[in-house]
Amino acid sequence: MSIDPRLYEYPNDILHDRIILITGSSDGIGKALALHAAALGAQVILHGRSVTKLEKLYDEIEGIAGAPRPSIAVMDLESANAESYTTLAQSIESEFGRIDGLVLNASILGERYSIEQYDAVLWQKVMHVNVTSVFAMTQVFLPLLQQSPDPSVIFTSSGVGRTGRAYWGAYAVSKFATEGLSQVLADEHGHGKLRSNCINPGATRTNMRLAAFPAEDRDALKRPEEILAPYVYLLGPDSKGITGESFDAQ
Ligand code: NAP
Repeated sequence: MSIDPRLYEYPNDILHDRIILITGSSDGIGKALALHAAALGAQVILHGRSVTKLEKLYDEIEGIAGAPRPSIAVMDLESANAESYTTLAQSIESEFGRIDGLVLNASILGERYSIEQYDAVLWQKVMHVNVTSVFAMTQVFLPLLQQSPDPSVIFTSSGVGRTGRAYWGAYAVSKFATEGLSQVLADEHGHGKLRSNCINPGATRTNMRLAAFPAEDRDALKRPEEILAPYVYLLGPDSKGITGESFDAQ
């Protein structure tokens, strides 16, 4: 029987010995997850596009007692090409030989316009970063996930990726696509060892949320550190067999 992942409680070494790659871990939810996963014993691979931000996070993780030393993977998802993905996967393969968790968290918001007014170049950029790069990352890391005894892929969705909403344009459509990608991957792997699920973080106090709702009372929002239980559940051993599902973190 599955549990409500929002209420999941876990020991403080639940991710011990797990190698977890988190895209967009330089800020927001990805950063909070990287810090928490490391504190729970995971060997975290920090992905982002800003060396400065990633090095700062690296230092923070080094300061956590008992946390394994993280790794840094710098790659801009907007400009990355096939070679960039292959090089990244090869370097992680030679360092670790496998990954146990892949959290596809990085995304961009784009702009809030009607479909009638949406800029076509911006549309392509949002779809590229939010969907095509997620596909590419998944594809190139599948062989390393298959080396794990208990591999888990987490895609990041949104409320506007389940019900379309005015002025959310490419971002909303990219999140519908993300839900679809997660389901297709889950179906391809049936109930084998690899699980593929989506998490919708819900309204969370990050720069992306601020850009979408600049006038909102930030203090009323959950902090990224407060919404992490479903991520830990899906990355750890207690979610074996849970696949093809979409969870709300709040
Ligand atoms: P955020 O604070 O804006 O963080 C986004 C992360 O993605 C940052 O680390 C950012 O790097 C990285 N990123 C963006 N473009 C990139 C690129 N081209 N190459 C590499 N990395 C890139 O956003 P967030 O709120 O934490 O969002 C995390 C996930 O949750 C996203 O998938 C978002 O759609 C989803 N979500 C968030 C909310 C919310 O209320 N916050 C609600 C629903 C869904 P930089 O640090 O360099 O910018």
